[in-house]
Amino acid sequence: MEVNAVVLSHAHIDHSGLLPMLVKQGFSGPIYCSKATADLLEIMLLDSAHIQEADAAFYNKRQPKEEPRKPLYSLKDAERCLKLIRPAPSLTAFEVSPEIQCTLIENGHLLGSAAVVLDVLENSKSIRIGFTGDIGRPDPGMLKPPIPLPEVDYLICESTYGDRLHEEEHFGPFELRDLIHQVCLKQKGKLLIPAFSIGRTQELIFALDYLHNFESLPNIPIFVDSPLATKGTEIFKNHLSAFNERFQRYLSFDASPFSFPNLNFTENVEESKAINSIQGGAVVISASGMMDAGRIRHHLYNHLSNSKNAVLVVGYSEPSTLGGHLSSGASSVRLFGEDIPVRAKIVRAGSFSGHADYEEMLDYLRLQNPKKLKSIFLVHGEEQVQKNWANRLKERGFSKVIVPDLQQEFDVL
Ligand SMILES: [Zn+2]
Repeated sequence: MEVNAVVLSHAHIDHSGLLPMLVKQGFSGPIYCSKATADLLEIMLLDSAHIQEADAAFYNKRQPKEEPRKPLYSLKDAERCLKLIRPAPSLTAFEVSPEIQCTLIENGHLLGSAAVVLDVLENSKSIRIGFTGDIGRPDPGMLKPPIPLPEVDYLICESTYGDRLHEEEHFGPFELRDLIHQVCLKQKGKLLIPAFSIGRTQELIFALDYLHNFESLPNIPIFVDSPLATKGTEIFKNHLSAFNERFQRYLSFDASPFSFPNLNFTENVEESKAINSIQGGAVVISASGMMDAGRIRHHLYNHLSNSKNAVLVVGYSEPSTLGGHLSSGASSVRLFGEDIPVRAKIVRAGSFSGHADYEEMLDYLRLQNPKKLKSIFLVHGEEQVQKNWANRLKERGFSKVIVPDLQQEFDVL
């Protein structure tokens, strides 16, 4: 298989993280994405390469007798990859190759995120292929709502919430305020919020900024403990005009929506460790969102066994991850080789999710004509969820829904 060009829907690492590996394997073509995505990639790919190198070095030091492990890719690979990125405009077709025109269409999932529409012309036959990327919710916090995907001939669709509705109780800024009052003021405990460094963390900071301005946020320290989140917040500050009307109105009241007194961005590991010794209430936002890596694991290790603390789960966690175990009510979890009893309260806040549920995804696909759409390929989801999502789409009249096998190929022209 030959790859001439890449079009990237958004910066999240589960979509972008292997691009440097592609470059390491010899890819040297253009990588198209939105301007905001390009800015985010600059910090995310370097961070990812750094983690790859540090993990390999850590393993090799601990297992000196074994064959040394190599990182998936190095900082140099990531830097070479970044040179290939070509920022593209939104809602304006651009040429990927003489036969292929591409349009990026904002889809409300993350700053810079977009669905991808390819208009392909070959042997005087033209077809339109759509890729949803990750679909945002209809009212996605600070972001503009997703623009429905125009009619296409073939569709590649995500499946994350293909068999679920966001039916958890609504959890917005007021519920967050009440939880902080309960945990941090009354119980003098810590509220841990595991969150993706890019996207969810900035939404939380914005919600806390709002509470500070309008809802008497208690006078307790609030930490953002993720170097990537700190850098990501700076990029969000450079793209304020990308957010929705409500956000623009807010800006006329508060021109710094990601900063308020008591908000601390930790700068090094020592500052991160020092959070443990704080007596009394505090809020700690840290990565990773699924809790399978990053500094949040240290905070969970230190705080899960005390019932005065709480964990707010704000996004999707795969069932096999630590976040998945905690969300499903595990009474103890394994961290750093130890079984840690879960006595802290676990609170789920589905309404902070960046992914549309199946009703919202069906609504996003409202311009698709079941009679004209030749096939829907389902990607980005667990197998059983994809099967259930396929059935729902079939119920709505989409007759050809395919859950492809790994490396399965299809002829579409
Ligand atoms: Zn995503």
